[in-house]
Amino acid sequence: MSSSAEPFPTRLSDLEVARLRADFPVLAQRPHGRPLAYLDNANTTQKPRAVIDAESHFYATDYAGVHRAVYELAERATRAYEAGRAAVRRFLHAPDAHEVILLRGTTEAINLVASSFSRAHVGAGDEILITAMEHHSNLVPWQLACEARGARLVVAPIDDSGALLLDEFERLVTDRTRIVAVAHVSNSLGSVNPVREIVEIAHARGVPVLVDGAQSAPHMPVDVQELGCDFYAFSGHKVYGPSGIGALWGRRELLEALPPWQGGGGMIENVTFEKTTYAGIPARFEAGTPNIAGAVGLAAAIEYVEAVGVERIAAHEQQLLVHATEALREIPGLTIIGTAPEKAGLVSFVLDCAHPHDIATILDREGVAVRAGHHCTQPVMQHFGVPATVRASFGLYNTREDVDALVAGLRTVVEVFG
Ligand code: PLP
Repeated sequence: MSSSAEPFPTRLSDLEVARLRADFPVLAQRPHGRPLAYLDNANTTQKPRAVIDAESHFYATDYAGVHRAVYELAERATRAYEAGRAAVRRFLHAPDAHEVILLRGTTEAINLVASSFSRAHVGAGDEILITAMEHHSNLVPWQLACEARGARLVVAPIDDSGALLLDEFERLVTDRTRIVAVAHVSNSLGSVNPVREIVEIAHARGVPVLVDGAQSAPHMPVDVQELGCDFYAFSGHKVYGPSGIGALWGRRELLEALPPWQGGGGMIENVTFEKTTYAGIPARFEAGTPNIAGAVGLAAAIEYVEAVGVERIAAHEQQLLVHATEALREIPGLTIIGTAPEKAGLVSFVLDCAHPHDIATILDREGVAVRAGHHCTQPVMQHFGVPATVRASFGLYNTREDVDALVAGLRTVVEVFG
C-alpha cells in the first residue's frame, strides 16, 4: 500500500457519521454548555431512535407473556421475542438459534457456564485457565466455581504492552485444564486476543473455550464458527441495544450436556414432588419471565449495526484509535496503558500530574464523558502498578472532534495540575 493510500478504506465518511449521530437523541445534549463527547462506549453505548422506538412500539402493540399462552397477542409477543434470538444467531454467525440463550448479559452468561459446566465437568485438583487481563465478570465466577469444586484457577500472563503471552498460555494448558475462558478484547487495555490460536491450542488438548465477547461484539465482525470457540457471551447494552439483555451462544452438544443453573417456570418438561425433568435448549437455561422487550430492542440494535456494517464501524473506530493515540502521545506526562500490537477502539492512560478521577472530573466540565477507575480489572491495574486509568472508548458515532475535545481537556488538566 502506498503511503498516500486510504488506510481505512471501509471506514464511515464524516457525512455518514454526522447522519448516524442524528439517530442518537442523547448526543444532542450539551453538558455544561459544551457539545457532548461521549467516550465511554466500553462501559455502555447510547441508543439509536430505532431501538427506543422498537421497544416502545412493542409495549404499545404486541406485549404479552411469551411461550405459554395461545391467544394471538401472546403469539405475536413470542414471535417478537424469538426474533431477538434469531437476530443474535445471525449476528454471531451461529449455526442454530437453539444454541442461543437470552440472558441479562455477559456477566450472567459467564456465571451460567461457570456454574453449570463446573458442576458437570470440574472436580478436585482440576484447573480452569483464564488470562491476566480478564474483567471481573470473567474471573470471579470461575473463582467461585473453583472454590465450589476444589479446583485451581490458573492465570496466563500478559506482557508490558498488555498482550497475552501465547507461549506461556500454551504451557499452562495441561491434562488438568477443564475449560479456558478468555476475553476477546480487553476492556481496560484494548488488547485483542488471538482467539483462533487460543482455541487451536486448547482443542488440541480437548479443552473447550469460552470467549467473553463483551468488547468484541460491538467493535468487530464475530463469527463463532470461524473462531472455533465453544461458548461466546456478549451484552446488548454495549452494541447500542437495551440494558438487561444479552446472550450466550454455546455448541449444542456442550449445552445439552450441562445441568440447569436456575430452576423455575419455563425451563421444565415435567414436574412432580419426586422428580423434575427439564426442557431442551434454549428453554432449559431461561428460567422465569425473560426480558421480552429487551429482546425486541436487541433485535433492533443488531439490525441497526448490520445496516451500518460491522466492518465499517471497526474501521471507523480504528481510525479514531490511531488519531487518539498519536494526539495523546504529544501530551507531556501522559502514559498510555495498553500498547498491544492489536487493539480495538479504546485507549487507557494515566497522567503523572493528576489522579484519573480528577482528570475525568475536569473533562466532564468540558463535555467529555470518559471513565476513570479500575474498569473491573483490578489485577490489570496491579500489573501496571497504577490504581486506576482514564479510559476513552469509541463507538460508531464518535468523531475526530470528540477526540480533539478530549485532547484539549487534557491540556487544561496539565495547565491546572502540571
Ligand atoms: N467482560 C468485559 C470484557 C466487559 O468489558 C464487561 C463490561 O464492561 C463485562 C464482561 C460485563 O458485562 P455486563 O456488565 O454487561 O454483564
